[in-house]
Amino acid sequence: MDLNLMPDNPYVLLTPGPLSTSKSVRAAMFRDWCTWDAEYNDIVQAVRSRLVALATDTPGYTSVLMQGSGTFSVESCITTAVPDDGHLLVLANGHYGERMARIAERAGIQATMLDFGETDAVEPGVVREELANDPTISHVAVVHCETTTGMLNPVEAIGSVVKEAGRIYIVDAMSSFGGIPMDMAGIGADFLVSSANKCIQGVPGFGFILARRSEMETLEGRARSLSLDAYEQWKVMEDKGGKWRFTSPTHVVRAFAQALDELQAEGGVAARHARYSENQRLLVQGLRELGFRTLLPDVLQSPIITSFLYPETGAFEFGEFYSRLKAMGYVIYPGKVTGAATFRIGTIGEFGPQDVPGLLKAVAQALDEMQGEQTVGS
Ligand SMILES: *Cc1c(COP(=O)(O)O)cnc(C)c1O
Repeated sequence: MDLNLMPDNPYVLLTPGPLSTSKSVRAAMFRDWCTWDAEYNDIVQAVRSRLVALATDTPGYTSVLMQGSGTFSVESCITTAVPDDGHLLVLANGHYGERMARIAERAGIQATMLDFGETDAVEPGVVREELANDPTISHVAVVHCETTTGMLNPVEAIGSVVKEAGRIYIVDAMSSFGGIPMDMAGIGADFLVSSANKCIQGVPGFGFILARRSEMETLEGRARSLSLDAYEQWKVMEDKGGKWRFTSPTHVVRAFAQALDELQAEGGVAARHARYSENQRLLVQGLRELGFRTLLPDVLQSPIITSFLYPETGAFEFGEFYSRLKAMGYVIYPGKVTGAATFRIGTIGEFGPQDVPGLLKAVAQALDEMQGEQTVGS
């Protein structure tokens, strides 16, 4: 495949996934694979062990891949990990935390949600108290980077509280795994969930659950769903050398293997984190110079995605702003918080600090045009 002949994307996706991928990742999909053949299954096994290596150096961890978007893997994890007499405590400060509570409720799992509010981080002290007060809580789930706002939760401090209390700890690291250095063992996570199309910069189609092996081994027969049974999926992958129970997203997995190579070539998670952080720093600096304000204070902010408040000039209208930016080659994301009018800009994917000035210029131009139109119209 001559990558020079491959068309460029018409615009950069500044969203929290799917995000812009490299041409070489997309080119990796240009052939078909047999889902039952060793050649393909070896790719699956390599992907699984590389994911474990990214998650921790500590032995005793394993991984399972699951078809579908990231939510399917979160649902698979929760509905397989929590037993019938279990009780899940969800620590929420945004949409993705709330979704975990809804997943549990839908499956008939007892769930309690502690809501910290969209602009405050989860407080480990409050979690400690809740766990002390309610011995029926068996599992605790939290989102690492709450993509609703861009908030980074203190997963390590929460983890030590959860482990001190002897409970099982589930971390939704969907939008941070591969983009923010983390050690699953250090965090104390028994389960950690992410997907192909976020910081590892693959294309959408599957997610994955990283798990402490000894915990995974206990999950037989717990799942409430056949296709989302994480244990059975794991057992087949484990015992049959990389086979999937049902049709596997072969092209997506092959592209993901390429994305893992490219993560390594970039210098690993630390280098990727440095690039995303620089993207985000330059973006915020530039937008602040244009008069925008961020929703979150800098101390709570992840380098993954940033929420900006609408400017207070009457000329701003999100749909208009979005269309103008898209026409100039940048797709941004609407806001999702309840209390404030915001939009979001992701700083992950095939996008680097050298690309930020072009984006800032486009934002300035879109604002100018909107302002100009309003002046002419009024
Ligand atoms: C993207 C994301 C998910 C999964 O979303 P899907 O649309 O199902 O891929 C879950 N949690 C967080 C924090 C996310 O950013």
